[in-house]
Amino acid sequence: MAELIDGKALAKEVRAEVKTRADAFRATHNRSPGLHVVLVGDDPASQIYVRNKERAAAKAGIEGRVHRLPAETSEADLLALIFELNGDDDIDGILVQLPLPDHLHDQTIVDAIDPAKDVDGLHPFNSGLLVVGRKGLRPCTPSGCMRMLEHVGCDPKGQRALVLGRSTLVGKPIALMLLEKHATVTIAHSRTEDLAERVRESDIVVAAVGRANLVQGDWIRDGAVVIDVGINRVDDGTLTGDVDFEGAKDRAAYITPVPGGVGPMTIAMLLSNTVDAAEARIM
Ligand code: NAP
Repeated sequence: MAELIDGKALAKEVRAEVKTRADAFRATHNRSPGLHVVLVGDDPASQIYVRNKERAAAKAGIEGRVHRLPAETSEADLLALIFELNGDDDIDGILVQLPLPDHLHDQTIVDAIDPAKDVDGLHPFNSGLLVVGRKGLRPCTPSGCMRMLEHVGCDPKGQRALVLGRSTLVGKPIALMLLEKHATVTIAHSRTEDLAERVRESDIVVAAVGRANLVQGDWIRDGAVVIDVGINRVDDGTLTGDVDFEGAKDRAAYITPVPGGVGPMTIAMLLSNTVDAAEARIM
């Protein structure tokens, strides 16, 4: 029977660490670390995410501010705001809530953020630092997954790790982070054949696809560590992951639940990145 990796409890621990560091930063520099979030349009899910970030920042001793812009904001106006935030010395982190409305290109906007303030870790400069194994701001969800592995004493060194999904946001960066920790990494995607076999031979399985119960419980190797990043809303309105939790929990050594697993870690790592950015900028 697997032990649960409690994302809520671990995220609380991370947020407490952030608060201690943010308070120390304020005591030394006479200001709190600053996080500015840009929200364009009125997508309901994005509004909830942004509100959660705003609240979490305030609780962690971070000076948060949200710039709410109308859906029809032009690219020029949005870029002008980003440049203004880039140039403000009291702002350490800038996050543009994605996806943007259709007439705006996510990547063009992300590319305009000063990489030193890119607390989402999505700027190509920071992706490059991750590829070459150098320190930099790293994407929050993959960082949260790594923190969960560390928390349960799972050292990826020499382990066979399978990442399902190859997105820039989750799949690719988590694969690079596992590689950095000396795992033997396989990346599966929509064209992968024999997915069940790839899962069966893996000591660590990270699922980041977005398909409810894609990974069947009996595919999981005995004693594997399973990190389920997927968030899927099913017919009865509840949330579920990419892994058949009920089947997998009898075989895995550790498993993350959905909800209450990776989700809460993402905001905690965003706050941690903000303090990292603040400390790095004044050095
Ligand atoms: P995405 O950009 O849609 O990427 C999905 C990936 O899954 C793609 O690489 C795709 O392959 C692959 N895929 C699709 N069908 C597959 C199949 N049958 N077998 C194997 N791979 C398959 O999604 P994302 O942004 O990475 O997010 C993935 C999931 O994580 C979503 O459920 C999302 O809601 C969740 N998420 C959670 C958090 C959190 O905080 N917990 C944060 C971010 C995302 P191709 O590249 O070949 O198309």
